[in-house]
Amino acid sequence: MAKILIIEDNPANMKLASLLVRSAGHEVLCAVDAENGLTLARAAQPSLILMDIQLPGMDGLTATALLKQDAATAAIPVIALTAMAMKEDQEKTQIAGCDAYIAKPLRYQELYAAINVLLAKAALHPLTPARSF
Ligand code: MN
Repeated sequence: MAKILIIEDNPANMKLASLLVRSAGHEVLCAVDAENGLTLARAAQPSLILMDIQLPGMDGLTATALLKQDAATAAIPVIALTAMAMKEDQEKTQIAGCDAYIAKPLRYQELYAAINVLLAKAALHPLTPARSF
């Protein structure tokens, strides 16, 4: 079980994403805008973030770039959720530092595959050294 932060402003999309992530056995944290998402990411250190790209105020690409610049959150994998599957969009998410990209509407197979790949990768190659005792 992993702790997964969902940053999504649309209530229906949030409901669906939360349901799917919980059904996969993960704990869900929610934020409805980028500012709260960034604060929660730093405070709660989720294992993974689902980031809606179109958010009120700061957009998801800017938020991802900030997460990746901050040593406290840089290692957290980010899956971008976008409204349209456009190549241009996909490139923008890569430039911002997103680790994967999913076009809405969410399909559980695609979501679970992306989550599992990134959690496995993070476990194999932790960017932050494990604390030694
Ligand atoms: Mn949105």
